[in-house]
Amino acid sequence: MMLEIFLGLPLLLLFAALFYWLVLYSPGAQRHWERLPTQHEYHTQHGGLCKQCSTATTLDVGLLGMTDFRRRILCAQCRTPLWRESAQ
Ligand SMILES: [Zn+2]
Repeated sequence: MMLEIFLGLPLLLLFAALFYWLVLYSPGAQRHWERLPTQHEYHTQHGGLCKQCSTATTLDVGLLGMTDFRRRILCAQCRTPLWRESAQ
């Protein structure tokens, strides 16, 4: 019985860490998010307007879901990703 607990707990923690890393953190999505410019970099280059359609209205969406701290700011009209932000 004790042997099963000793073997089961590390395995459970390993699967929990793997689940977090692959599903909730998602390294592929993280790389995509990090390629977006910061708000300061984007405003320096494009003046705060969408580079595709020149609209100033934006949408704030999470990278993988509504509550994701990794935020993407999209153009409200053409949905072009403009810059990234981190929610605190
Ligand atoms: Zn646009």
